[in-house]
Amino acid sequence: MRLSRYFLPVLKETPSEAQIVSHRLMLRAGMIKQQAAGIYSWLPLGYRVLRRIEAIVHEEQARAGHIPLLMPTLQPADLWQESGRYDAYGPEMLRIRDRHKRDLLYGPTNEEMITDIFRSHVSSYKDLPLTLYHIQWKFRDEIRPRFGIMRGREFLMKDGYNFDIDKDAALHAYNRHMVSYLRSYERMGLTAIPMRAASGPIGGDNTHEFLVLAQTGESEVFYDDRVTGLKLGARDVDYDDRDQVAAVCGEFTSLYARTDETHDEAAFADVPEAHRKVGRGIEVGQIFYFATKYSEPMGAVVVNDKGERVPVHMGSHGIGVSRLLGAIIEASHDDRGIIWPEGVTPFHAGIVNLRQGDAATDAACEGLYGALKARGLEPLYDDTSERAGAKFATQDLIGLPWRVTVGPRGLAAGKVELTSRRTGESEEMSPEAAVARLAEIYDGV
Ligand code: ATP
Ligand code: MG
Repeated sequence: MRLSRYFLPVLKETPSEAQIVSHRLMLRAGMIKQQAAGIYSWLPLGYRVLRRIEAIVHEEQARAGHIPLLMPTLQPADLWQESGRYDAYGPEMLRIRDRHKRDLLYGPTNEEMITDIFRSHVSSYKDLPLTLYHIQWKFRDEIRPRFGIMRGREFLMKDGYNFDIDKDAALHAYNRHMVSYLRSYERMGLTAIPMRAASGPIGGDNTHEFLVLAQTGESEVFYDDRVTGLKLGARDVDYDDRDQVAAVCGEFTSLYARTDETHDEAAFADVPEAHRKVGRGIEVGQIFYFATKYSEPMGAVVVNDKGERVPVHMGSHGIGVSRLLGAIIEASHDDRGIIWPEGVTPFHAGIVNLRQGDAATDAACEGLYGALKARGLEPLYDDTSERAGAKFATQDLIGLPWRVTVGPRGLAAGKVELTSRRTGESEEMSPEAAVARLAEIYDGV
């Protein structure tokens, strides 16, 4: 993309309405625009990151054997009357009446609708296990929308639902979700800690929330700090292997890590003092096993191998796709702007032309631009006539992890400069070497 033809409405001033750094930076970097309280447009740069996060989630769900579909945002009220949640959900649910006076709602979650789909089409244990998910906009009429997209009213969520014949099979689905979530967050450059949680309106006893540690987080968290060093890394997990998947979950959940809702002072006191930490965290996902809470009232039953009709065991599993942008920025920024992890960056590298209009410099930039694209990378080429200082400030603000700077002085020696946004370190090299280096960096991402 050439910056001269892009739509990147960066702000010079710090917007006064934003209380936390991720919200400020998303506004300044021209990523989002508020349209109403808790409702945002996703401007091109923000939209790119949103798509990258979605892509990672889709890839990791596919790896775990989970199947994508797409349910609508609007749902009929009857389904929620069947489960008993229509009244129970309260004022967070946005209720709508159509011209025929039928009651609808903008879905805050989809347990009822997915159960309806299941009961219409599945009747035998032979069709299990089954896990379906979608990535769709949700609406919750939050009493205090704040922190930009972090606590919006309309927000993008991945929500998945497993259907299994018994508790053991459903707990395997729960564990698969935990591992696939851990892998997704790691690919986004985040450490998200699974913490024992309380279940709220979804229901069920088995539930973990995934929290990214951050001062600005809304949840108080209590943890053994050795949990922050755990990594899945490149290890291969066979998602069909119940014991292996359970062992990984055991590794990530055996150290003390809880939110204030489930915190237990006595158990916490057993953590060695040097490792006992109290902090704050941002909830970026939650998984639940809730047995037959929805399948029973809604008649989602299958015939088992003994010919008996039994309600299926279910769970639901959510990732806050849009909230993740804020969480990533909270975890990765400095006083000049965002620092995108390679896994989610909106563009792989910036190209800064220090003397736009100089034939040799322009030609070198065009060459780099073409060569990076030929390698499957997406550069953002600053081909505007801004001063060098302003170009650097924009690059730092929008946070692309790598920048290639091209100027007449370097070119005279056959060199361009490759700079890491994270470390600030620069290295001079030929344009070909810069392209090869970037291709290598992104090869493993
Ligand atoms: P919270 O406690 O933050 O209100 P929740 O527990 O009600 O969230 P879930 O039902 O677990 O939310 O939804 C799954 C994920 O969706 C959450 O972990 C969170 O990342 C995201 N999410 C929930 N509410 C919002 C919101 N208002 N804005 C943005 N993301 C949200
Ligand atoms: Mg939650």
